[in-house]
Amino acid sequence: MERAKLILKPKEDLRIRGGHPWIYDNEIARIEGEAAPGAEVDIIDARGVPVGTALYNPQSKIRARLYSRKSRSADRAFFLEKIGHAIEWRRRFFNLEKESARLVFAEADGIPGLIIDSFADGRAEPSAGSAPKRWLSVQFLSLGIYQRRELILSALGELFPCAGVIEKDDAPVLRHEGLESRVCLLAGEEPHNLVMRENGLLFGLDLMNGQKTGWFLDQRSNRAAAARYARDSEGKGRQVLDAFCNAGGFGLACAAAGASSVLAVDSSAEAAAAVSANAGLNGLDAQVKAVTANAFDFLRGLEHEHERFGLIIVDPPAFAKNRASIEGAHRGYKDLNLRALKLLEPGGILVSCSCSFWFGRERFSSMLSEAAADSGRRLRMLEDRTQDLDHPIVSGYPESRYLKCVIAEAEAL
Ligand code: SAH
Repeated sequence: MERAKLILKPKEDLRIRGGHPWIYDNEIARIEGEAAPGAEVDIIDARGVPVGTALYNPQSKIRARLYSRKSRSADRAFFLEKIGHAIEWRRRFFNLEKESARLVFAEADGIPGLIIDSFADGRAEPSAGSAPKRWLSVQFLSLGIYQRRELILSALGELFPCAGVIEKDDAPVLRHEGLESRVCLLAGEEPHNLVMRENGLLFGLDLMNGQKTGWFLDQRSNRAAAARYARDSEGKGRQVLDAFCNAGGFGLACAAAGASSVLAVDSSAEAAAAVSANAGLNGLDAQVKAVTANAFDFLRGLEHEHERFGLIIVDPPAFAKNRASIEGAHRGYKDLNLRALKLLEPGGILVSCSCSFWFGRERFSSMLSEAAADSGRRLRMLEDRTQDLDHPIVSGYPESRYLKCVIAEAEAL
């Protein structure tokens, strides 16, 4: 079928030629031909020069998402090539037979709207002949990608055999694409009692129910980094507070690295239960205590009780979901980090994270400075970190750099 042409307004091609894959509704001068929802469209600049090929969605403010700089079809060969490349690139850093990793990170891997995570059974040795014990958790976050899920599954079957594929479309952004949220088994068998390994520790996973994709893979290397401070300079284990702990990725890494105790808090009772179960899996029960509470209130309560910690992790959900919520988010992050700083003993370590793209690095840094000043402390920056390598950061698409993870030491002013 003839592809419709989406003609851009003058200069609107510049950002896209610089690497950004999104074409917004207000950047389009006109459409020539019939563009069905989800269809391929040719993107043409105001002078008539082709920019590339995109998938169209008349319902979304992001009217089209570029998937190629050339004129080509989003067919099986396209997905084989792009997904294959994304997987091979990760093999340089991860042992995908044994390790869990994000295989495809949507726009950052040149496949807008497609996220694929692989979760490997951390207890099983891959055996010859049978499907490796790993499961894929897939998110189809745009209409065009959702329509092509059979092609994607077929390409995956060839590239990356696994025991089962779960569709985990429960992200709020689906609304903007006119898509329904759903979590279901697409192929193979359901995982039962799946246990993955990360940083040498075992973590149980419930892919069919857990939050997001079941596990926040992007924090893998930051958890390992935080754990390197689980003991103080004399080798004595620190008391650790893991706020917004989810299933305990940070806290358990610290416990295994010698923390004297870990207090983990999350507002979700399932998350707190998962921390306890995971502590048990790793023989860390004695050190780890999990609590279900609102972290804001809980931290204030600890302050009233004059509790002190040597290492505090603060990893809240995204407070800034768009430009309009940046100021409110700033107050939330500052309040939280101030509370954490008040609980830190002199020389204590703060591990502070934000996964909001909208709350940029400069903002994050000034927010931390303000919280430090209000707490009467100075922060000495030890590490300024970001997401792990399976969530690539690419030029031209600033949204790909979203995670901040600062590790800092609190000193007296
Ligand atoms: N640190 C975790 C990821 C945190 S994700 C890890 O390493 O995997 C954010 C977590 O914050 C979620 O588990 C969510 O349940 C929890 N959460 C959200 N609002 C909260 C609140 N007000 N108090 C405590 N936990 C909260």
